Amino acid sequence: MVKTDFKDTLKLKLKEVFGYNSFRGDQEVIIKNILAGKNTFVIMPTGAGKSMCYQLPAVMQEGTAVVISPLIALMKNQVDQLRALGISAHFLNSTLSKTEAKKVKKELLEGTVKLLYVAPESLTKDDNIELLRQCNISFAAIDEAHCISEWGHDFRPEYRKIRTIITHLKEGIPIIALTATATPKVRNDIQKNLNMEDADIFLSSFYRENLFYEVLPKINPEKQLIKFINKHKGQSGIIYCLSRKKVEEIANLLKVNGVKALPYHAGMDSSIRMQNQDAFLNEDAAVIVATIAFGMGIDKPDVRFVVHYDAPKSLEGYYQETGRAGRDGLESYCLMFFSPKDITKLEKFNKDKPVTERDNARILLQEISYYANSSVCRPKQLLHYFGEYKNGGCNHCDNCLRPHEPFEAKDDVLLVLNSVKLTEERFGIEHIIDVVMGKNNEYVNSYDHHKLDVFGKGKSEDKAYWNTVIRQSMISGFVKKDRDNITILKLTEAGREFLQNPYSIKFTKDHDYENEDLQDI
Ligand code: ADP
Repeated sequence: MVKTDFKDTLKLKLKEVFGYNSFRGDQEVIIKNILAGKNTFVIMPTGAGKSMCYQLPAVMQEGTAVVISPLIALMKNQVDQLRALGISAHFLNSTLSKTEAKKVKKELLEGTVKLLYVAPESLTKDDNIELLRQCNISFAAIDEAHCISEWGHDFRPEYRKIRTIITHLKEGIPIIALTATATPKVRNDIQKNLNMEDADIFLSSFYRENLFYEVLPKINPEKQLIKFINKHKGQSGIIYCLSRKKVEEIANLLKVNGVKALPYHAGMDSSIRMQNQDAFLNEDAAVIVATIAFGMGIDKPDVRFVVHYDAPKSLEGYYQETGRAGRDGLESYCLMFFSPKDITKLEKFNKDKPVTERDNARILLQEISYYANSSVCRPKQLLHYFGEYKNGGCNHCDNCLRPHEPFEAKDDVLLVLNSVKLTEERFGIEHIIDVVMGKNNEYVNSYDHHKLDVFGKGKSEDKAYWNTVIRQSMISGFVKKDRDNITILKLTEAGREFLQNPYSIKFTKDHDYENEDLQDI
């Protein structure tokens, strides 16, 4: 009885304050968890409604909830929206004037503020820490929590200081971490860094059934793009390019081809940029050509396609960017033009970065190449990347609609799994391939791996073949990356079982884009 009351109270509050009739996905259980004062970790795709998870508990609890967000440009929007609903909300960041900051501080001390948005840079300032120490903080919500991890696609060093500061504010403040993109490795990193290994984790499915994924080799991209756009005439879409120059070029190309296209990049005059963004948001058939600076917080429901004219920098970024298509649930297209040259170009951009950052960026780029070249169901690959297993194909991606001839992989999977086992689950893909292919190099020999039974057993196939077998063994759930060191492969429970009782399993060879006949789908 009490439980029902509690549930009704939450629903009533949702209706009363936000005007919504029901919760979406896991929102209700998450909110209950937060109200119970527990550390909570929310991993939900963009647009699924993460903000509500902390906004409603903030309104319902005594004191002020501190929301840490790196997106200064969006804070004002969020705060304005909350105020329009009659909720007392403020933000603290470098854009506030002295008078405005004074007003925020006064209201905070009076204890009337329900939500305070803070940029991590502002949170680290001594004055602000002192101020927050005097407030009654209900909980701290850390938005875009993947920024804490060097392994993610958007590392922000200031995020690493958050935990220490929160502890310093008040003993035992519950922490809510939220993100839309976190691989298992990044998740692990977030929990460790925030010292919230005890947190209850709410992981929503990342599968978006209405999105059609396709990769095309970048052969004559301008022509390919026009052909694609002609098929989607009158629809709204986003085209991502790597450079500002390319953005301008492609926007012009589309304009001369009769498409209402507008450019958007950080090098443009800010008033024109905003004007173009508004035109895209308000007009029915507008295409925006943009660098990845575009899109954070954009909530346009009828984006019918997202094209990556150039390769993205990571699968996390790619999934987030393509996730802007089809928010209304209707069928939408995500097309990537892929060329290994783009990956080389992106690698060059990273050459002046510190070693760890450069290495991580290289690993992220490698994943893009694997994804593009693989003939496995696209959503299955993407979901696997985020630690989610999808049974079967999707029947609405290029690889499902143009399937490659499958081959029997039982013996080769056994060889790979045995190699992982015999090398004591302490090595990565490259090393396993060297062992299987019988490479007599110093490294292999230094571990005596040339004496293993499996050594050279797969020398009749090439490196690309073994790469495919290992990657597909991962997607099939037989091997996985180690949680703490993602360059190491470990056997899973399913992998051990397969070694005991092997069975027939079909894999497909990667794309050979140069020689493939890609008919239209
Ligand atoms: P995210 O942060 O996960 O990307 P948002 O919090 O911005 O998503 O929410 C996306 C949209 O969904 C917003 O317009 C928000 O108002 C709306 N929304 C959130 N929760 C609900 C709900 N329970 N019912 C209806 N709309 C909701």
